[in-house]
Amino acid sequence: MTEFTLSDRVQLIKPSPTLAVTTRARELRAQGRDVIGLGAGEPDFDTPQNIKDAAVDAIARGMTRYTAVDGTPELKQAVLDKFSRENGLDYDLSQILVSAGAKHSLYNMIMALIGEGDEVIIPAPYWVSYPDIVKLAGGKPVIVEADMASGFLITPDQLAAAISEKTKLFILNSPSNPTGAVYSRGQLEALGEVLREHPEVLIASDDIYEHVLWTDEPFTNIAMACPELKDQVMVINGVSKAYAMTGWRIGYAAGPANVIRAMRKIQGQSTSNAASISQAAALEALTGPQDFIPPMVEAFKVRHDHVVDRLNRIDGVSCQPCAGTFYAFPDFSGAISGIDNMTNDLELSAWILDSAEVALVPGTAFGAPGFIRFSYATDLKTLDEAIDRIENLLKG
Ligand code: PMP
Ligand code: GLU
Repeated sequence: MTEFTLSDRVQLIKPSPTLAVTTRARELRAQGRDVIGLGAGEPDFDTPQNIKDAAVDAIARGMTRYTAVDGTPELKQAVLDKFSRENGLDYDLSQILVSAGAKHSLYNMIMALIGEGDEVIIPAPYWVSYPDIVKLAGGKPVIVEADMASGFLITPDQLAAAISEKTKLFILNSPSNPTGAVYSRGQLEALGEVLREHPEVLIASDDIYEHVLWTDEPFTNIAMACPELKDQVMVINGVSKAYAMTGWRIGYAAGPANVIRAMRKIQGQSTSNAASISQAAALEALTGPQDFIPPMVEAFKVRHDHVVDRLNRIDGVSCQPCAGTFYAFPDFSGAISGIDNMTNDLELSAWILDSAEVALVPGTAFGAPGFIRFSYATDLKTLDEAIDRIENLLKG
């Protein structure tokens, strides 16, 4: 068969490591292997019934055609109301875009903004897709490293030092995937001080884990902490995590109208509207009862406490507690150096998958070698079984 020559562009990127681990775990299970998947970054809860019913109803009502590229007027209004109600951020409809997932909104934003050689500041550890989407657009990811000692949070000085005349975008993700770290209002204000000096830099606030949070302080993003910067911020959010709707593929963005317009143009020349039926479901998620969220978050908090405690009892492993998401991000470098012929987290996670049959995402995928991400979006019994297996494997 012909080996077709691919574009230079596609060769700049790798497959999404989070999705790759999930696929691999699924394949192994299909072969009859007893694999525990802690790779997937999605709630294990089912989508609430009222949301499913809204989708079925949408089908029955014949909502089966194209919608406006940027979303149905009802859903855009619900997104606008959500920002006003939950975040105190007021937009008009020309500042809202509905896409097929938050990832899609982010992709459109980066494509709309970033050209050859433009720089995008990304704090590490970072979510896997940010640098690769930037590369696909021809841009240059500028990684600013935060370590466990700094609580996985970057400082204003680090941010200031990373900004150059080529900087177009700064991506902030709090609560963070993979660390669960959360910037406080005060810390956001301090970053805002730096960004105020650079009005040409768009700030993307990826708020997808907004509701999966257990800090004393209510959720705050940089537009909420620094109202004078609101016009410099593109907020990205969606229904995937808060309403256990990862498969429905609905995300949204709110921000400067000219960037939203450009994102809509790209969406109109690529995917068109997000699925009409999913949009009806998302409308119910945003406007219907919200009582599904607190028990889910409480369950994640219980699992967080348990998993962090157990990981810290393993020799050579150190795991910092965090305040949100459903990920633990332990440092395995001590364990790695104690194992013969083992040099890094990629080899260790491959060995754990092969020998202990637990699927995890290596920290290198998030720009943090030596670490491994555990998604605790599964029940406590399964989590215990997974950690038992890893503990036994490491004991030798
Ligand atoms: N941002 C972060 C930090 C994420 O972890 C995810 C999860 N996939 C997304 C964005 C995208 O979410 P979705 O496309 O499912 O809305
Ligand atoms: N955000 C999830 C994760 O990090 C889902 C997979 C993805 O889209 O990357 O695992």
